Amino acid sequence: MIYAKGLGMTNVVVLGSTGSIGRNCLSVVRDNASRFRVVGLAAGSNIDLLAEQVREFAPGVVAVGDARAREEFSRRNAFPGLVLLGGEEGLRELSSLRTADVVVNGLVGACGLVPTLAAVKEGKRVALANKESIVLAGEIVMKAAAEHGATVLPVDSEHSGVHQCLSGRDGQVRRIVLTASGGPFLGKSADELLRVTPKDVMRHPVWKMGRRICADSATLLNKGFEVMEARWLFGVGLAEIGVLIHPQCAVHALVEFTDGTTLAQISVPDMRIPILYALSYPDRLAGTLPACDLSSVGPLVFSEPDLSRFPCLRLAYSAAAEGGRRPAQLNAADEVAVRAFFDGRIRFVDIAVVLERSLTLLDAGPADSVEIILEADAEAREAASRVISELS
Ligand code: MG
Repeated sequence: MIYAKGLGMTNVVVLGSTGSIGRNCLSVVRDNASRFRVVGLAAGSNIDLLAEQVREFAPGVVAVGDARAREEFSRRNAFPGLVLLGGEEGLRELSSLRTADVVVNGLVGACGLVPTLAAVKEGKRVALANKESIVLAGEIVMKAAAEHGATVLPVDSEHSGVHQCLSGRDGQVRRIVLTASGGPFLGKSADELLRVTPKDVMRHPVWKMGRRICADSATLLNKGFEVMEARWLFGVGLAEIGVLIHPQCAVHALVEFTDGTTLAQISVPDMRIPILYALSYPDRLAGTLPACDLSSVGPLVFSEPDLSRFPCLRLAYSAAAEGGRRPAQLNAADEVAVRAFFDGRIRFVDIAVVLERSLTLLDAGPADSVEIILEADAEAREAASRVISELS
């Protein structure tokens, strides 16, 4: 068990420490300093914040993704004894760090897959916020976890909710329902959607998040990825996973059991709750966050998503059903399309167009190795770039 090392201490590596998940994770560590210790951090290019984090949490190893930022980091800072790593190799080394008990993967995008696999192969607990790891290679990751005795715990509010409702009763489940806030454009007409801007996308009604996840929440593609995630994390068929729009974001997940009982997980929408759960499971540590006050939230509303206004969710459903390389292709095309949208090259509604056209240019096919998946990822990026040039 993970508390075996040190005086009840859990050693934590945080990948993506300067991003939204990373900062929330370090805040959980700060609030529970007698239980968690940071042994490694990885960041992309925000070296000012990274230096601050190193000063506060004193990890032994740090990785900086961007080469120029790494040079700058070592030029500006002198942390005695700190090991500085870089690039993909650095992420891999941090994920398999001997002293680490838990690897929190808060990386954004397909680049999170290889570090997840490295941690799983070392039998670590992986607190997984990088849903792409599962979207791209769920079967491979979960199989490797079983083989190496690793635990994959979701740091996604909905999946954390499902995990909490299940509490080991996997065999008695009829259906899993993930809720969705509906994003910032829930009530907008198809006409209004033609004119939304990157700024509008970043105004998520409930969660404060990074650019990619804000865009994916606005298109509802994120919910499609979460369906794929749930499928592998909990070993259920796609037909047993539902989605309900629930703008209040009080209920994060519902699990229907075979006897007709439904359990719901309810909490304030704050990522520190799923992070604390993933770090402390099977314990529940006293946190600083309040319980959700249902009387102040007001009426809880649930409805089916509208696939005609949010075609990305429909595309995700069919990619999930096709399987193989499709999820990896959809994700890669989306990473490229979202960047083009924030760069002002395409409209919001064009994101779905780019995804659909890119997929028609690519062969679906089996994806039984990481190499094939990464190849599919690269091909889809190229296809999406071509489609975007035609559009813009
Ligand atoms: Mg989520």
